[in-house]
Amino acid sequence: MTSKKGGSTLDQQHVLATISEVTFGDLFDLADIQRLQDEFAAATGVASIITHPDGSPLTEPSRFCRLCKDVIRRTEKGQVNCFKSDAVIGRPSPDGPVIQPCISGGLWDAGAGITVGGKHVANWLIGQVRDETQTEDKMRVYAREIGADEEETVQAFKEVPSMSRQQFGNVAQVLYTMANHLSASAYQNLQQTRLIKDLRQAEDALRESEARHRRVLENILIGVVAHGPDTRIEYANQEATRILGLSQGQMRGTTALDPGWRFLREDGTEMPHDEFPANWVLSNLKPLREKVIGVDRPPNGDRAWASVNAYPEFGPGGNLQSILVTFIDISERKRYEEEKAKLEEQLRQAQKMESVGRLAGGVAHDFNNMLGVVIGNADLALDAVSADQPLHAELKEIRRAAQRSTDLTRQLLAFARQQTIAPKVVDLNEAVAGMLKMLGRLIGEDIELTWLPGEGLWRVKMDPSQIDQILANLCVNSRDAIEGVGRVTIETANKVFDETYCATHPVTSPGHFVELSLSDDGRGMERETLANLFEPFFTTKDVGKGTGLGLATVYGIVKQNNGFINVYSEIGKGTTFKVYLPRHEGDLASKSAIPASAQVQTGQETILLVEDEPTLLKITSTMLGRLGYTVLKAGSPAEAMEIAQNHESTIDLLLTDVVMPGMNGKDLAATLFDHLPELKRLFMSGYTANVIAHHGVLDEGVFFIQKPFSKQELAAKIREALAD
Ligand code: ADP
Ligand code: MG
Repeated sequence: MTSKKGGSTLDQQHVLATISEVTFGDLFDLADIQRLQDEFAAATGVASIITHPDGSPLTEPSRFCRLCKDVIRRTEKGQVNCFKSDAVIGRPSPDGPVIQPCISGGLWDAGAGITVGGKHVANWLIGQVRDETQTEDKMRVYAREIGADEEETVQAFKEVPSMSRQQFGNVAQVLYTMANHLSASAYQNLQQTRLIKDLRQAEDALRESEARHRRVLENILIGVVAHGPDTRIEYANQEATRILGLSQGQMRGTTALDPGWRFLREDGTEMPHDEFPANWVLSNLKPLREKVIGVDRPPNGDRAWASVNAYPEFGPGGNLQSILVTFIDISERKRYEEEKAKLEEQLRQAQKMESVGRLAGGVAHDFNNMLGVVIGNADLALDAVSADQPLHAELKEIRRAAQRSTDLTRQLLAFARQQTIAPKVVDLNEAVAGMLKMLGRLIGEDIELTWLPGEGLWRVKMDPSQIDQILANLCVNSRDAIEGVGRVTIETANKVFDETYCATHPVTSPGHFVELSLSDDGRGMERETLANLFEPFFTTKDVGKGTGLGLATVYGIVKQNNGFINVYSEIGKGTTFKVYLPRHEGDLASKSAIPASAQVQTGQETILLVEDEPTLLKITSTMLGRLGYTVLKAGSPAEAMEIAQNHESTIDLLLTDVVMPGMNGKDLAATLFDHLPELKRLFMSGYTANVIAHHGVLDEGVFFIQKPFSKQELAAKIREALAD
């Protein structure tokens, strides 16, 4: 009936903790109560009001007579008396309404308390009716007592309705019954409120625990994907999105077939759809345990590996409700295992090489001894046969062949690395010359071998067999890189690297070196190959053809002798290896022979620098900048032409790499010459000038500098080219 209702107020109600905090306003809609009170007053003709337990009003008075409303309650004492009186008659009483004349005007009043679960929350009062015991005289006395106007009091008194005591008692009884009803309904309200509050608390607790589970689920390092019974994905946690490479939004609602994953079996073969975990569980209706599955993730197809578990979840009726798939990332472990397998394979390979080497070494050794016998006997026989006798020439031939064979066994022993290192002071030119025949045999007749010994070559100190091995290994590689006919060029030269040069070329160290370069016009190498060249077992050759040990051995030897190696290679254009071996110390007059970097020639001209190797471009540009030049950098011939076209002021010199993809330096220079006839040119290359000239790339008489060059060499060459 008049209970407080509607969801809007429930929030307010549900915060009530105990009955002691409950107020009348919490339990009832005051406007409803006001209407009930007004209607009751109108029906009975009796004044009515609802007050707090202390007598202060809760509702607006209904049908209050003028005497009470406008006269007595207008005075301070009168109001206090009214409240006191109201408080008394509103006392909760189990037997029926309290009926009594009021202590204020002496009119008859009645009241009934409203309680909720034992707590007194309000009084419903009626009254302001008179009977014959109250007189005008008594009213005058009371008016004087509370300080009200006597005449007005008497006048108002006359307006107060009169009612028999019997009649008033009946009205009061109805009031009592209503008040009890209100109490009961308020209590019900409260119970309901409590119930709702409990429910809400339970809901909150549930929500909180759900949130906690979700937090765990989102942070755990186990991928979790929940599928519906139709295998559509309903939920995927954070780790699942990480491993599978798709967002939750991209996965939701799809089956594993849709998003473009490629699943793989443990052996790396593609997994058929019916083996996908959710599909498998759907058709088998039992758990899948610890299955190793690979996934190529969209969009870029990188691969992850996971150990997967999957379970069917059944509802109360035994029907499939969902399929839960959980998985952990084992990519790292998988990679480790693959790496291990690779290393084991390499080890097997190395062991094979080792035993082949040992075999070859052993044979060579014994063979060498036999040759000693042959040579010894040939010598003895020669002693016995003078030059003019018929057998002499033949014996000499036998001896020469045997001698040549010992050279061969020496090579074999070098390959087998059976010789202990015995460094000697060596003239590299002699060492190379001594190897030429053997190398020629190694590379075959279709490949022409050119030998260009440097003049006044410094000596180096190392084991001669190591030089042989370097040459042999490099030559074999060149042979393999050349299809059909081709050319291999071996050169030697003296080389000085100063501090400035070494500061910009991290692999070098300052000092005097002997340079041994070996160039071929074979197929050349990609960047990728260049980057891994010296790694043991790195090979691009077929199994059985390459071991990947050739350059690793060369690298090891050169490092052991405190040297270093530079490689220049361009796909389709050939390769040059430059091995730098330190000059033998005993040959050095003094260390100060290294030129000081202060004497370099500087300039202020503008130079267009073209170099396709980014690090070299940077280093060379830095050098030029230090020398005072203005540098225009181009990473390709195309870029160089664009710069040349757009550059406003003069360009004095073109410093360009010769062998570049797309267009060579010579053609670039020729093209630029049309626009800039004054442009001077200086070519640079890692290939030696001889090799380049042979290619027909550069004409006689052009300015050329060979990489690697020192700042000083560059400075001098630039001045030369500019002065032309
Ligand atoms: P292997 O010759 O057994 O492959 P190496 O260590 O000698 O091993 O060489 C490693 C790789 O470097 C070769 O497989 C080849 O790809 C590349 N390479 C070496 N020298 C040359 C060259 N002169 N021209 C082209 N590629 C070369
Ligand atoms: Mg090789």
